[in-house]
Amino acid sequence: MGFENFGTVNFTTEAKSEEFLSYLDQGKVMTTRCKECGTSYFPPKMDCPKCLSSDVEWFEIKNDGKLLTYTVVHYGPSGFEDEAPYALAIGEFGDGLRIFGRLSKDIEESDIKSGMGLKIVPVKLPDDRITYEFKQA
Ligand SMILES: [Zn+2]
Repeated sequence: MGFENFGTVNFTTEAKSEEFLSYLDQGKVMTTRCKECGTSYFPPKMDCPKCLSSDVEWFEIKNDGKLLTYTVVHYGPSGFEDEAPYALAIGEFGDGLRIFGRLSKDIEESDIKSGMGLKIVPVKLPDDRITYEFKQA
């Protein structure tokens, strides 16, 4: 899996982004699973691309993740210059659910290694925005 898709997911284009954000606000990182074929998705999807069912359910992502791969960004994109350096990562949670996101700045760059335990937690940002990040489990 490459990193070319990092930063391109825009929750505002997702039908249920408001629901996702309201769960984050309640301190829960939730996503959806297809009740028909059992496939989980992140970001949440209201229709299953695999079996085309719309019978989906929300569930809380378990904090049993592990780091699959990561990259350290030394020069942030426009608007994020002050944030760099930070690490973007792909974590695997539960039954093969792959999630990308930022690693918490609490984790020292020298401590980051593939296979380390991760949990996914909501983070409040300035301007009342909310997102999620990975912390060391
Ligand atoms: Zn399905």
